Amino acid sequence: MTEDRCAAERGLEAARSKYRTERDKRRSRSSRDVPDIEGDLIRYLGDPFNAPQPRAPLFDEVEVLCLGAGLSALTVGARLKQAGVDRVRLVDSAGDVGGVWYWNRYPEAKCDVDALIYMPLLEETDYIPTMHYAPAPEIYEHARRIARKFDLYRDALFHTTITALEWDEATNFWHVKTDRGDRIAARFVCICNGPMSQVKLPDIPGLESFEGKSFHTSRWDYGYTGGGPSDVNMTGLADKVVGFIGTGATGLQCVAPLAASAKQLYVFQRTPSTVGVRGNRPIDPEEVRAYEPGWQRRRQENFTAINFGAKAEEDLIKDGWTELWRELLASDRYKGLSGAELALEKERVDFEMMEKIRQRIDSIVKDPAVAAKLKPWYNYLCKRAGWHDEYLAAYNRENVTLVDTEGAGIDSITPESVVVNGQLYPLDCLIFGTGFETEVSGRLRLKFSVVGRNGLSILDKWKNGLATLHGLTTAGFPNLFMIPGINSQAVVTTNVVHMAQEYADHIAYIVAAVRASGNDVFEVTDAAEKAWVATIIARRVDRTAFLEACTPGRSNYEGEVMARPIQNTVFGGGAIEFFSILRSWREAGNLEGLALSADTSSKAGPRADKLIEPVRSVSA
Ligand code: NAP
Repeated sequence: MTEDRCAAERGLEAARSKYRTERDKRRSRSSRDVPDIEGDLIRYLGDPFNAPQPRAPLFDEVEVLCLGAGLSALTVGARLKQAGVDRVRLVDSAGDVGGVWYWNRYPEAKCDVDALIYMPLLEETDYIPTMHYAPAPEIYEHARRIARKFDLYRDALFHTTITALEWDEATNFWHVKTDRGDRIAARFVCICNGPMSQVKLPDIPGLESFEGKSFHTSRWDYGYTGGGPSDVNMTGLADKVVGFIGTGATGLQCVAPLAASAKQLYVFQRTPSTVGVRGNRPIDPEEVRAYEPGWQRRRQENFTAINFGAKAEEDLIKDGWTELWRELLASDRYKGLSGAELALEKERVDFEMMEKIRQRIDSIVKDPAVAAKLKPWYNYLCKRAGWHDEYLAAYNRENVTLVDTEGAGIDSITPESVVVNGQLYPLDCLIFGTGFETEVSGRLRLKFSVVGRNGLSILDKWKNGLATLHGLTTAGFPNLFMIPGINSQAVVTTNVVHMAQEYADHIAYIVAAVRASGNDVFEVTDAAEKAWVATIIARRVDRTAFLEACTPGRSNYEGEVMARPIQNTVFGGGAIEFFSILRSWREAGNLEGLALSADTSSKAGPRADKLIEPVRSVSA
């Protein structure tokens, strides 16, 4: 072995030990750290951007109702309109369309998936984004553009939360109740509640007692901080001591603008993120105009293929994500290796990439003690990868202090301070960059029950494990679609918009096909559902060893990932195969696994008449 190789092996051995130590420190913390947001904490959920306006309750009927008005619902809505469905109603608790891009207006918020593949329906709306990593206001405006283009505002309801969904056997419609007193009949319902719809606050003793200003990053209060989503000059913070909890993708983006505006900034860190080179740059519109039609889908497929380890001949995106996957998942160094040799080589590649991340910190952060605290010690994909070009340098400022909690988290919050390791940090303002209930959100985290045939609630149906066809539909719940969440018998791609588009194509196809067949109702057969569950189990990829080695994080802590039923997982063949299964299913043209029926009650008059009697209340 050469000397270099010996040094590398020693480095790897030392890293293994350090990874274990850091993992174990974090494992000792309490298993579940997500408090229910209720009582006094409800104030963290209010809309600081638009006040809800009073309106009369609605009693009417639509063809399709989507729970949510984020990018998935907009894509579903657009595809349905293209398929000839006129009455599509989006319902969202936010004050407009956009979903997480309505809420996430924190300073310098950007999407770190390339805008040419992330912003939906670019060719359909004839819009070319300005930057490869688009600023949040531009994405929000694009969501509005889609809603206008496909006439989705006409029937939308905002600042409206669905409180019950119940299938009505007599009318073959879904009965929908909302917190605005609406009673809506919908022939089809699509649950598009998104992985980032549920705000997560940390379970820190005394959280509710803080008396200074405090808010979650998805409810940024510019009235207090000054500045705005496109103006990082937060003059209101010039005389304020600000605390920021969280160093995930949101924290990476918020810290630099806060550092530039606040009198003093304390960043409370539990686990450091990886911070790769961002290198944002403008998009050349002339170059995009020269692309062949269908370019967006081609680029999305290329990115997702590389995401799932394909050795694509060409990398159309060429950014931090694709570099990361090409190296980690498909390196030439793996050629001819298998078993233990392959595992070891993968570990080496991972270590070398993480070393570059750690060296970057040393090259930017001047104080070696601070640099040491910012270094991530885990395998690369244990946490969502991050990129930023100003985050690390912010720690060179005199007014910025990194408070590393050494994995233990914050001791407590008092009316004036955050307490770490017994030391009090008095604050004027405390900002939670603690994210969303991403991993456990989605269908299983609905705050109300969805009731299908025979009064069965979906959560009761799934209490011993999920059962779906393609993660999108489930037997006993006719005319219901769900955009799959994480571990929901479908796939989750880094570019969630690509995934949403594939699901939207499928949903629009089924709705159009049911209508074209002269029927009104579809339902998954038990046999089709059983077959898909069997496929999920048979193709299951056991990630226990990988997760076991990881430092705890939102994708692998709480014991939930490992404790859940065996079929509550993704399709193990990856996204490209999964999307091709959906396409082949559509191409076969026989709606295999769906039973169709006509609504014999359909001549009986408008459904809304029947809805004036409140639908049976359902337990939460
Ligand atoms: P996140 O990734 O869940 O990170 C939450 C942060 O809060 C972590 O640093 C976590 O520490 C910390 N935290 C949680 N509970 C804590 C506690 N009790 N005490 C101390 N620290 C605590 O949330 P996020 O950064 O808001 O990102 C949410 C999602 O949005 C991600 O999936 C990301 O993909 C997406 N996002 C994307 C972008 C982008 O495109 N650039 C920007 C923002 C968000 P631990 O790591 O120790 O758990």
